[in-house]
Amino acid sequence: MAAVRDLYEILGVTRDASSVEIKAAYRKLARTLHPDVNADPADQDRFKEITGAYEILSDPAKRRRYDEFGAAGPPGAPFGDIQDLFDMFFGGGFGTRSRGPRSRVRRGEDLRVRARLTFAESVFGARQELQIERLSACDTCGGNGARPGTSPTTCRTCAGAGEVQSVRRSIFGTVMTATPCVACGGTGEEIRDRCDACGGEGRVRTSDTVSFDVPAGVVEGMDLRVGGQGNDGVAGGPAGDLIVGIEVEPSEAFVRQGEDLHGVLDVSITQATLGGDVEVETLDGPERLRIEPGTESGTVLRLKGKGVPHLGRRGRGDLFVTLHIITPQDLSKEERSLLERLAELRGEGAAGNGGVPRNLRRPEFRQ
Ligand SMILES: [Zn+2]
Ligand SMILES: [Zn+2]
Repeated sequence: MAAVRDLYEILGVTRDASSVEIKAAYRKLARTLHPDVNADPADQDRFKEITGAYEILSDPAKRRRYDEFGAAGPPGAPFGDIQDLFDMFFGGGFGTRSRGPRSRVRRGEDLRVRARLTFAESVFGARQELQIERLSACDTCGGNGARPGTSPTTCRTCAGAGEVQSVRRSIFGTVMTATPCVACGGTGEEIRDRCDACGGEGRVRTSDTVSFDVPAGVVEGMDLRVGGQGNDGVAGGPAGDLIVGIEVEPSEAFVRQGEDLHGVLDVSITQATLGGDVEVETLDGPERLRIEPGTESGTVLRLKGKGVPHLGRRGRGDLFVTLHIITPQDLSKEERSLLERLAELRGEGAAGNGGVPRNLRRPEFRQ
């Protein structure tokens, strides 16, 4: 039986190589070995080999299992998709799978759900609780599918071999063929007395509350993987994962740009002219902002570190506040006469400009 070469060795990377390094190593090799550019059969086998290795090492879950168990897979269980991949790329018979029954043990399926967060929850992170429907191991039979007090027995059709052999005569002589046993699905086991609770499946549909932490700084459209909270496995196999699609409610106050937040603050014409302090509501609570006397509309003030935390590392973005100066529109008689008096003092005609056309000036574009 041929031994499978170490996958890291195949790609020429170390065991602690990052996903970027693995991808780069594969690309580099694939460029010279790809069948489109290289017809040498030896190179084509090598191309299959590096592609097989890359398929496994580029998938975090498969890589983890490979690191843990090697190509042979967990003890007492088939390696599932990894072994299948080897078979696909190397035409089977390569690797360590022995002929005989397949184990019934299977990993549970991943489940996909959505979680809707408030804007503040997406910024600071939050513990979430969700009600989900999933397949859980049957309590009645302990997951093996057999009526309590009985257990799965050797398949009568294949006598536990998991495959059925037949002999055909042909012009070339006697040909022996083996096909997977249909009666037991190739597992070599049959359940004669099925569990009433699960009908022999070993799993039942349940509605469960799952809770998990959403890290600070997530964005709309991101997927979170919650390990082991998907469907339970079959016959004691590991549970699948829960994939949580993140949705974020827009904020009334802020627009997020990367890790910075942007908001607009309305300032009265007198405040902008005379200056003063204003309190503004940030995600961290009220903050004092200084408005300098003579502030122009469009001035941007920066509150350092009041933005969104960097996802998965320290530090936060900033909060930028654009000042918008409001021109009053509902003047009382008294206010109007005060403003007219001001215009007079400043030599500014209340309306028009005495027939002298004013000059424009070039605009300044920000950013
Ligand atoms: Zn059951
Ligand atoms: Zn069978």
